[in-house]
Amino acid sequence: MSREDMRALQGARLRKLVQYVYHNLEFYRNKMQELSITPDDIKTIDDIVKLPFTTKQDLRDNYPFGMISAPRSQIIRIHASSGTTGNPTICGYTRHDLTVWQESVSRCLGAFGITREDVVSVAYGYGLFTGGLGLHYGVENFGATVIPTSTGNTEKHIRLLRDLGVTAVACTPSYILYMYETIIKMGINPKDLKLRTVILGAEPWTENMRKEIESKLDVKAYNIYGLSEITGPGVSYECEYQHGSHISEDHFFPEIINPDTCEQLPYGTLGELVFTTLTKDGMPLLRYRTKDLTSLIDAPCECGRTAVRMTPIMGRSDDMLIIRGINVFPSQVESVILSHEEFEPYFMIVVDRVNNLDTMEVHVEVKDGYYSDDINQMIALKKKLSSKLKSVLSISADIKLVEPNSLERFEGKAKRVIDNRKLK
Ligand code: ADP
Ligand code: ZN
Repeated sequence: MSREDMRALQGARLRKLVQYVYHNLEFYRNKMQELSITPDDIKTIDDIVKLPFTTKQDLRDNYPFGMISAPRSQIIRIHASSGTTGNPTICGYTRHDLTVWQESVSRCLGAFGITREDVVSVAYGYGLFTGGLGLHYGVENFGATVIPTSTGNTEKHIRLLRDLGVTAVACTPSYILYMYETIIKMGINPKDLKLRTVILGAEPWTENMRKEIESKLDVKAYNIYGLSEITGPGVSYECEYQHGSHISEDHFFPEIINPDTCEQLPYGTLGELVFTTLTKDGMPLLRYRTKDLTSLIDAPCECGRTAVRMTPIMGRSDDMLIIRGINVFPSQVESVILSHEEFEPYFMIVVDRVNNLDTMEVHVEVKDGYYSDDINQMIALKKKLSSKLKSVLSISADIKLVEPNSLERFEGKAKRVIDNRKLK
């Protein structure tokens, strides 16, 4: 679709949406009245800047059903995101919303080169988390074969991969690494499996991580992005060019804002990603602030898709560490570590405060062939990594080299940071 046609479609959908939420949800009616606007002020997609933002806090404050616009009898599925602190956020779906969602996931599968001949194992958690069921119904709707493995019991999963000729696995980047290790431990040669595609998302991962996974498993690794509040996985996806993830912007309208001033930023600028759900009716959201940091690419893609792309998520603003005044994202540390062949893709960042000064330790696993008792060799390796980290992050970190297989492995989203300053 041309940009012009897409913007016209988005404008028409936005007008309808604003009418709908204004008349069906007290929360948005109040917010719009506070801003002295009515649905008639929204004519084109450019008018979106007049609309109020929505935050995760709004969802929590209106727990459980205060953000649901549709009559309760029309809500046929509920998901919830983690809610480690305070109320979890509840997401309600109508039958129409589930259709939009599964079609969005099907679009992703098409872009990954999946066909009806594929056998897709879904190894995201099944449950309140949207990963498992989201991919599951997407694969079914698409017409490939789905195996609902979920997480846990990795050895059994790998036997199924081998015996059923599984060609694609969907899971977190952390879990595919763990699966790889288990495959090796079981004495299976990854090249003997039929696996050729892995569909990775739910946490940030870098280009260097992609190279690592693709070469270890002899597969192509594609990004899938999404969040429960907007629908779940399937909001954006990579195509065969793997250069940014196309957003299904006919359903989920993206904006990038400056997180401090909330001002909309132009294409190409790094900032906070904001989505308006253009077609949902269960829990539609206006300008939902994701806290995910990325930028948008509007240049046409070589694949022929015209949908705007987003660059890989650098991290959530919540996950940004401020160490001695310098901003650090775990994804930057990952990228530096994996630019060296000596390290495994496992690390842990430990931040603390000693005598009022922030300290950062990076624990990293050294590959088998490189781990040695020779102290000088280990010191040289430490120095190499710390000077590279310093040049990229502008901050020095204390490197702790650890043996292969000594750090924790994750089946879902990895935890890469221990911030002891929070306890003080
Ligand atoms: P929770 O908030 O409990 O983690 P979600 O499962 O909805 O619940 O998580 C969505 C978040 O996960 C996104 O906002 C983003 O931070 C992260 N995420 C999802 N997919 C990706 C991806 N492909 N790359 C980077 N981050 C991702
Ligand atoms: Zn493309």
